[in-house]
Amino acid sequence: MEYAQILEKIYGLTRFGTKLNLNNVQCLLDKLGNPERQFHAIHVGGSKGKGSVCAFLHSILKSSNIRAGLYTSPHLVDFTERIVINGSQITKEDVVKYYEIIQKHVDDMVKDDCTKQVTFFEFTTAMAFKYFADMHVDCAVIEVGLGGRLDATNVVFPDCSVITNIELEHTNVLGRTIEKIAHEKAGIIKPNVPVVTGARGKALKVISRVAAEKNATLVALEDAVVREEGRRRFSIKYRNWEMNNLDISLNGRFQLWNAALAVLCIKNLGIYRIEEEAIREGLRNTVWRGRIDLVHRNPDVIVDCAHTPNSAKALVEALAEDYTSVKFVFGVFKDKKKAQILSVLSKLGQEIIITEPDSPRAEKPEKLARIARRYFSKVEIMSREDAFRKTLSSSGVYCICGSVYLAGDAIAFFNHVKKEVVSENASIDWSKVVEILMDAYGTAGHYGEPFKVLIATILSQRTKDEITYPKAEALFKVYPDIHALAHADVEDVAGLIKPVGFYNVKAKKIIEVARILLNRYSGVVPDKLEELLSLPGVGQKTANCVLVFGFGRDALPVDTHVHRISNRLGVVKTDNPLETEQELKKIIPKPLWKHINYLFVQHGKKVCKPVRPDCRHCIIAGFCNRVGV
Ligand code: SF4
Repeated sequence: MEYAQILEKIYGLTRFGTKLNLNNVQCLLDKLGNPERQFHAIHVGGSKGKGSVCAFLHSILKSSNIRAGLYTSPHLVDFTERIVINGSQITKEDVVKYYEIIQKHVDDMVKDDCTKQVTFFEFTTAMAFKYFADMHVDCAVIEVGLGGRLDATNVVFPDCSVITNIELEHTNVLGRTIEKIAHEKAGIIKPNVPVVTGARGKALKVISRVAAEKNATLVALEDAVVREEGRRRFSIKYRNWEMNNLDISLNGRFQLWNAALAVLCIKNLGIYRIEEEAIREGLRNTVWRGRIDLVHRNPDVIVDCAHTPNSAKALVEALAEDYTSVKFVFGVFKDKKKAQILSVLSKLGQEIIITEPDSPRAEKPEKLARIARRYFSKVEIMSREDAFRKTLSSSGVYCICGSVYLAGDAIAFFNHVKKEVVSENASIDWSKVVEILMDAYGTAGHYGEPFKVLIATILSQRTKDEITYPKAEALFKVYPDIHALAHADVEDVAGLIKPVGFYNVKAKKIIEVARILLNRYSGVVPDKLEELLSLPGVGQKTANCVLVFGFGRDALPVDTHVHRISNRLGVVKTDNPLETEQELKKIIPKPLWKHINYLFVQHGKKVCKPVRPDCRHCIIAGFCNRVGV
């Protein structure tokens, strides 16, 4: 079956609604061999900020060379956003593959009279856990779907639980008081497992009581000293440790508090010793779409998922730091507090376009416009596409908000706009560019043994080449092949590769890789991207480097140099290396792929440097649009 057909089947399960009961999902996971027990986990619940905290945690783990999974909901643009490993979304092919695996077991459950049906969330949770286990994830960050105690994700036994905060929400299901909701959310606390929380007041009391009953160490954000040092910078002190001037990339001061919670969690995660540098890098590089997301510049267009009065207030406060007046595109579900949200938005502008999110639950625009006229002096009604286009053609700043569905559609629209803009620039003569760069920098020269390329590339992550290569050579003198490294002593390896970044973690990792190669692949490095990605410490770039420099295959490793130069050239407009790889593959002829990494890395180090590129002496300036330079 095709991906689109599979999605229809998965979405079809939403007709079974939400089931607050763990029997189904546990039975399904038992049939799958309990994948949920095959990786470490951080379980994140709460009312607000769960997704952002998950994104911060995932980014920090990734920066620390830990193979990190991320399971969140809902998605904005595509289903594949829900299941991620080290920043890479599950592929559509794997969604098809894992649908078939899970569905087979669901059919067995129905046959055995174990269940009548499995819900959408139970199905996707089982899919995520099975995928993480098969892909040898070290630690997965798992976001609770609804509530906590009876949520399908609550079958994990995590190494740390996080409860962001507690607000009155889903009161028909979770209870009508803060205490009752806090009790449900505290249901994710496990015996002897630390719990970190940003909750306060009555909610914190309930969480403290449950934590005490379960002998779980409680770490409250309230007990930490968090200082805002700027709009995207904070310092944190908790008991005997402190970290100063931590920078984040996400917009909105409330994200500083989500980031602080993530740092508290990481510091209380007993399974790893995560270096401060990895925490800093992870916070700086966190990407979480749809939250005060600047999707277009000049004119500025911001997309946000705000759909409650509180989230609208946080949005308006954040926007007011940059803009004196904002126009809105707004669409919302019928059951939301429409008048209150509109009243909050009107504090920052008097013009609004009303539209309809793509859902049967959406409020009719005419009805919504009647409410909007109480608060705004100019109210128009438009289709989504017309409204999005208008934000680009008129003056002033627009913010699109009111619904996750609307935010998702807006992001998809602006992604498309970005592609339209770059497609004109993308048709440069790539053969010529490669030829000019080769004349200046030569070629990568020799292809090494796949094993050595693999190990050296893992060592090179977040380390300068001048340090990596001599250390890799020293390592290979003592441990020249997979067999030798698989039987090496961790301390000895760490001593040989020091001062490579994270040398202790990397020493363990490369020995583990060698052992897996020995046991699972008969001592041979696999030449398939998917198999390489399943190795610990191997992400997209490393796997592609092995394919190119180890096997001479047509692959395109994208690191920061390739990502930066491609965007400056104006041939892509992308947010991360993975996106860059996907876009470059569409526009560069395949036989040239394998040259790009080496040539752009050389050019990036010598001429097109991260700061102050030397455009005057650039040999490919004739092909460059100098975007952002
Ligand atoms: S012209 Fe400037 S921005 Fe463009 S590739 Fe050369 S150095 Fe980089």
